[in-house]
Amino acid sequence: MSSKSIVYWASPYEMMGLPDSKSNMITNNLVKTRFILDKVLDNINPEDKVGIKIHPGNAYNTHYLRHDYVREVVKAVKAKGGIPTLIETQGLGMYSYQINMSENYTICLDCRTNADDHEKIAHLHGYSESIVGAPLKFLDGDKGIESRNVKIDGIHLKEVAVAAGLFEYDKIIVVSHFKGHPQAAFGGALKQLGVGCVAKKNKFVLHYLDDLSINNRNCNISKCAQECISECPVNAIKIEGESAVIDISLCVGCTACFKKCPIKRAIKRKFNMTDIKGLTEKAMDNAAAVVNSYGPDKIRYINFAFDIPLMCDCVVNASAPVVPDLGIFGSSDPIAIDKACLDAETNAPSLPFLDMKGQWTQPIKPGIEKFKALNPMVDTTWQINAAVKNKLGSIDYELVKI
Ligand code: SF4
Ligand code: SF4
Repeated sequence: MSSKSIVYWASPYEMMGLPDSKSNMITNNLVKTRFILDKVLDNINPEDKVGIKIHPGNAYNTHYLRHDYVREVVKAVKAKGGIPTLIETQGLGMYSYQINMSENYTICLDCRTNADDHEKIAHLHGYSESIVGAPLKFLDGDKGIESRNVKIDGIHLKEVAVAAGLFEYDKIIVVSHFKGHPQAAFGGALKQLGVGCVAKKNKFVLHYLDDLSINNRNCNISKCAQECISECPVNAIKIEGESAVIDISLCVGCTACFKKCPIKRAIKRKFNMTDIKGLTEKAMDNAAAVVNSYGPDKIRYINFAFDIPLMCDCVVNASAPVVPDLGIFGSSDPIAIDKACLDAETNAPSLPFLDMKGQWTQPIKPGIEKFKALNPMVDTTWQINAAVKNKLGSIDYELVKI
């Protein structure tokens, strides 16, 4: 794809210029969502099984996309005769643990690594059939391990475990909350593909630098109930002598073993805090596997650039919004739609916010990309450049205002 891609955009502040003068008072963002959808959902036929890829947010995050917008997507699919299902994959749960805040107040962070827990959070955030009008299904099964291996010639990866359930749908609509991200710099359509549509195995590949291995000095079967073995969903762990061994050819990176192991550092893993560019590029390799195996023409994208914090919807302290609401974007091109959101974010002035010492920050001027300015560890160009290298779409777009 080298020609300009169309990105439809509705401003969150202005009235829409509808031909009927009586309708010119419409400013409502749900109504604007429907008008964007009417432009981009040109590929849906009656009886199509349509997967609506969502991210319902994480426990204790309050910046996730409101379910009201997803309900509009469901309604638009039904209006075209399609059969909508909300689709999602399990989280890897890097920060998954219980914290006792006080004697009778315990909170569970990042507890969305299996279907039961994930569904509870989705329902809490309004993503349930009784509210949005479509059921929720997990593409990678209850534990996040059901996948189809897809060969690619990516920047780093040659094979990707794409979530198996994706292929049950005739069409996919990727619904994204545009916001910052602590590693990928920003989250939008591309990240929904590259992280949100793959099984845990390829989420692990991004977030950890090496394969898991047993630390023989710490692993001690006389001090545990061999929880790692009972937790492993693919029987990749067995006991040899006095300690466990992992058959890495079987491991699907679900992280269950080291979360359950009671002995500190018995299972060695190296969280990726150093190769952030590589992490982002691998995510775009994943995205290429998803798009190439599923079919680019069968996917449409809608980004909601509302309530835009520096961190993603998995993070508990996602910060205050860094820029004003930027609007609703729709496209058939995942690079073009994310680039249009990034350009809008760059061109906007930032919002001042109270820092951790209670002092107001100075606004960042229009023309400066805010996510990098506020978090120098990241760079938004890494994700876009890797997506271009993987031929996921076009960086050149034409913005068509609704
Ligand atoms: S890895 Fe942990 S749970 Fe497994 S045998 Fe070793 S100490 Fe026990
Ligand atoms: S070895 Fe650990 S991470 Fe790998 S599949 Fe088994 S439980 Fe999951």
